[in-house]
Amino acid sequence: MSHVDSPTIRRLSRKIHVGSVAIGGDAPIAVQSMTNTDTCDVAATVAQIRTLIKAGADLVRVSVPSMEAAEAFGRIRQQVDIPLITDIHFDYRIALRVAELGADCLRINPGNIGREDRVRAVVDCARDKGISLRIGVNAGSLEKDLQQKYGEPTPAAMVESALRHIDILDRLDFSEFKVSLKASDVWMTVLAYRQLAGQIEQPLHLGITEAGGLRAGAVKSAVGLGMLLAEGIGDTLRVSLAADPIEEIKVGWDILKSLRLRHRGINLIACPSCSRQEFDVIKTVNALEGRIEDIDTAMDVAVIGCVVNGPGEAREAAIGLTGGQPSLLYINGKPARKLSEHDLVDGVEQAIREHIVQSKNPVTP
Ligand code: SF4
Repeated sequence: MSHVDSPTIRRLSRKIHVGSVAIGGDAPIAVQSMTNTDTCDVAATVAQIRTLIKAGADLVRVSVPSMEAAEAFGRIRQQVDIPLITDIHFDYRIALRVAELGADCLRINPGNIGREDRVRAVVDCARDKGISLRIGVNAGSLEKDLQQKYGEPTPAAMVESALRHIDILDRLDFSEFKVSLKASDVWMTVLAYRQLAGQIEQPLHLGITEAGGLRAGAVKSAVGLGMLLAEGIGDTLRVSLAADPIEEIKVGWDILKSLRLRHRGINLIACPSCSRQEFDVIKTVNALEGRIEDIDTAMDVAVIGCVVNGPGEAREAAIGLTGGQPSLLYINGKPARKLSEHDLVDGVEQAIREHIVQSKNPVTP
């Protein structure tokens, strides 16, 4: 049916850059994931980054736990174009090395680096090389004194932890950073981001950490990130799933697409099917999804099993299929041709691909 554009008024944040990708301000909300290969296995990591790019990643994060991994990162950097964020904990020398080797952003908490001269060295290096930082607070690894003060992880404890790291960067007059406040609990995460959003100007990286497996994690992430995004909070996101990182990118895009905050690929509108269906809707949708995964052009496609809702949805979509005797293919909201049962998937796919070609090369009168 007809669409309602997102009424969201986005929180005004400072625009920073992760390589060529802008984060915050009026920049599109960036979708990112993280490799789960061994970073020292350069070939496997490069291959995974390439599949993430194909799936629609704007940014990719790579964990760099050792100096050996830092050297491997340098070789990875040379083989892919996408901006790369390096995930570093505690060891400032690793941060300095990956900065040399072409990292676009360092995820490192200044408060965890230790001596002030080391923090200053990392920040000066980031400034010199035009690299941004991400402060990443995680409810599971709050500082000991905050755990004692609050008794348990709370939104306020997470915000206080973030503000400590931010204070260090403020004192060093460094403002090119983004902040994340992740918990595995949806409300803890949402409340923490809400509290911090009004206190700083930097962009926010959203995520529900350790959200779970594919289905439960996607739902948790959609609920938590959806609440924040609907309030205008969030400039980049990572969905954390115990699943293939490709799924993180797909779910991230689905969250943004469902709120009409970004558009990419086919938005498939399909009925759940019932005894009225005139063709096997679920089988058709599953087959079609497999055929159209490579498409990044934004387009609404409706697949509806009967004439109860079929014509209404098909009229509002670029391409529509509605069950009947026989099934009918709609193009640009108008009935275009009849399709027999065994031609449904081929017919819809062909219509989608032709529509893309025509929209890229419009016939001018
Ligand atoms: S559109 Fe038709 S087939 Fe699909 S769920 Fe509704 S009534 Fe059933």
